[in-house]
Amino acid sequence: MKFYVLEREDAEIAAEREKLERERQLHIREIKRVQHEDDSIFNKHTIQKNDRYVLLTLLGKGGFSEVWRAYDLDSYRTVACKIHRVNKQWGDHKKASYVKHAIREKDIHKTLEHPNIVKMYELLTIDQDTFCTVLEYCDGNDLDHYLKQHGCLTEKETRLVIGQVVDALRYLGERQSPVIHYDLKPANILLQSGCRKFEVKITDFGLSKQMETSDDCDSIELTSQGAGTYWYLPPETFKDISVKISTKVDVWSVGVICYQCIYGKRPFGHDQTQQRILNEGTILKATVVNFPPKPTVSQIAQDFIRKCLQYEPSNRADVLELSRHDFIKSVSRRIVQQPASPSSRTMRDDLDH
Ligand code: AMP
Repeated sequence: MKFYVLEREDAEIAAEREKLERERQLHIREIKRVQHEDDSIFNKHTIQKNDRYVLLTLLGKGGFSEVWRAYDLDSYRTVACKIHRVNKQWGDHKKASYVKHAIREKDIHKTLEHPNIVKMYELLTIDQDTFCTVLEYCDGNDLDHYLKQHGCLTEKETRLVIGQVVDALRYLGERQSPVIHYDLKPANILLQSGCRKFEVKITDFGLSKQMETSDDCDSIELTSQGAGTYWYLPPETFKDISVKISTKVDVWSVGVICYQCIYGKRPFGHDQTQQRILNEGTILKATVVNFPPKPTVSQIAQDFIRKCLQYEPSNRADVLELSRHDFIKSVSRRIVQQPASPSSRTMRDDLDH
C-alpha cells in the first residue's frame, strides 16, 4: 500500500517538475524578448511611412527580421509589422536574392484571402536595407508557445485546430495555381484569443511555392532542400534535389503537428537537433509511425495521422481527402464560415459536444 502511495507522489512530483520547467522556458523566452526589444533600433516607437504605423511591442525576433505589434493610425487597428533588415555585410548578389525572395513571398501572400490565413496588407520599403510587411495581428501567441506552456491539447481541441489548418490548405490547393506552404509548424500557426478558443491562422509564406496548374498530377521541382524545419518535413524533401514535390508536403506536416498536439511530442526525431536529423537521415527512415499507449486516443484520430504520415506521397492522402476525413469533417468549413455573432455556435460549444 505504502509503495503505491510513494509511486503516486513520485508521479505528482514529476508532473510538477515538468510544469515548472515549462514555466522556466517561457520566462527565458520573455527575458530574451525584452532584451531584443531594448537592443532593437526600432524601439523608440518609430513611426513608418508618413507616420502611419506606430511600433508598440516587439513580439519576436528571427535571423534577419523582427515582428512588432503596431498601431495603424489610418485604419485604427492593431497590426503586426514584420521588419526585414538585409545584412550590410552581405554582397550585392545575396542582398538581391533576399529581396527577390521577400517580394515573391509578398506576391503569393498578398493574394490569399481565407479566414484561417493571416492577411497581408502591404509591403513597405523603409530604407535601402530595410523593408516591412504589414500583417493582420493575431493576439493569442502561436501554437508553439501554447504547446510549450501546456504540453499538449486534448483530442477535441486538436480537432478544432487541425480542421482549420486543413481548411486553409484546401483553399491553397484549390487555387488555379496551388500553393505549397512548405514550412507548416506550430510556430507558424497563430492563435486568436477571444470567445472562440482555438481560432487559428497560418502565417509565414517565406518558403512557399506556387505550382503551375491545379492538375493533381502536377508537381514542382524541389528547390529549397535544406530549408524548413526538419521535424515537420516529409521524406521526399530530403531526397535528391530533382525530386518532384506537391501539396502533399503540407499534408505530412499536418500529421506531425496533429501527433504533437495530442501526444505532446513529435513522431520522428523529437529529441534530436536539426543537424542530427540531417546527419542520421531520421526522416528518410520514418516509414512507420508509433503511437504511445497514453493518452488514450481514438482510432479515428490515429487513422487521420496515419493517412498524413504515409512515407510515399502516392499513398498519402491529399488535402481534399483529408478535409473529408471523419476526424475533422464536422469541424472543417462549418466553423470558419460562421459569422462571429454572440448567438452563433462557438468553437467552445463544439468542444463541449
Ligand atoms: P516569426 O519571426 O515569424 O517567427 O515571428 C516572431 C514572433 O512574432 C512569434 O512569436 C510570432 O508568434 C509573432 N507573430 C508573427 N506574426 C504575427 C502576427 N501576424 N500577429 C501576432 N503575432 C505574430
